[in-house]
Amino acid sequence: MRQQPSPPTGVHRTNGPAETEALAARLAAALEPGDVILIAGELGTGKTTFVRGACRALGVEGRVTSPTFTIGQRYEGRVPVSHLDLYRLADLGGEDPALLADYLTPERVAFVEWPEVAEGFDGLGRVAARVRLAHRGADARELAIELA
Ligand code: ADP
Ligand code: MG
Repeated sequence: MRQQPSPPTGVHRTNGPAETEALAARLAAALEPGDVILIAGELGTGKTTFVRGACRALGVEGRVTSPTFTIGQRYEGRVPVSHLDLYRLADLGGEDPALLADYLTPERVAFVEWPEVAEGFDGLGRVAARVRLAHRGADARELAIELA
């Protein structure tokens, strides 16, 4: 994580997916290879939307959707990006730390949806930031962004 441009830490409110993507793009501008970003929040709060916005800012051009049948996806942007969604996994606590090694490497920026599943898991790598999204009615969302 770079300090310039300064990442958008703190609590934000967005009123539609485009605003969430724009906020994610601001965070992406501060990311460096090896950074892992945890994205928490209930279903439909906009975790994948946030990852999509960050990916676009990182130069990823293809589809960015939640990995459904795999644990994760890899994209090529100006930096290589990993997108993990742990929703369908059982608790990873105590699992072999190498389990996600293909996705979490020093060259990649990695976004992890449902990071709660990885509590107690030693293989997440260097967490640079935590994002938490919450429903605030209709198209409103609250996003809290903190650097780790
Ligand atoms: P998650 O990955 O958390 O399950 P998604 O990003 O897949 O959530 O879906 C979020 C849904 O909510 C999308 O259909 C998106 O268009 C909609 N949405 C409405 N308002 C917002 C907002 N402010 N931020 C993000 N998504 C929003
Ligand atoms: Mg998702």
